[in-house]
Amino acid sequence: MATKKAPAIKKSAKKPRARKAAPRKTAKRAAPELTEYRRKRDFSKTPEPEGGKSSGRVKALRFVIQKHAATSLHFDFRLELDGVMKSWAVPKGPSLDPSVKRLAMQVEDHPMDYNTFEGIIPRGEYGGGTVMLWDRGWYTYGQLDPDPVARLREGYAKGDLKFVLQGKRLQGSWVLVRIRRGSPDKPQWLLIKHQDEFARQGDDIVAREVTSVATHRTMEAIARGKSRVWEGD
Ligand code: MN
Repeated sequence: MATKKAPAIKKSAKKPRARKAAPRKTAKRAAPELTEYRRKRDFSKTPEPEGGKSSGRVKALRFVIQKHAATSLHFDFRLELDGVMKSWAVPKGPSLDPSVKRLAMQVEDHPMDYNTFEGIIPRGEYGGGTVMLWDRGWYTYGQLDPDPVARLREGYAKGDLKFVLQGKRLQGSWVLVRIRRGSPDKPQWLLIKHQDEFARQGDDIVAREVTSVATHRTMEAIARGKSRVWEGD
């Protein structure tokens, strides 16, 4: 998980939270999916992680949502699949209201160690601006199945990706549906909450929850502070 050149790696002052069963690194291999991610960034200038080797084994799958004040504010929604974080930029962020469909523009796969990044991407660099860890946790296929990861891969390939989130702020059943708009290499999807006990009609969670789930900082405080690569989990 160690990044080679991340300049401002700091340990959290707080004790790391109790680890859940996290996938550990086993077979090391470079992740070719990260070529575009690396091409866009100058790691001598940005504190973002370069992305190490991906894990060859998948058990619990991670998700993370980063609030990102770049040229325009958006929420980066990332789901682990096959050793990388599949990523979507959601301009309005997630909604707990099943009647609300949020546009989610797929972007390049990100490295797993991006999941702990919170801080400032320097102005002039790709995605320059403040990044907050807005939510994170685990996700699953959600239905009993002998091979849940295979079902998630199928859903992703079909453009009908159903999943269940277990985060601090987002829980329950969701779907990402690919729509026809957008270029073939940058498909557009819709992020929709399914009706379940975690659905909330009319709720605006992104307006209600405005601090980091990792450091409890606001965007303004993060912008004033140091970039951190969180090593807590
Ligand atoms: Mn972004």
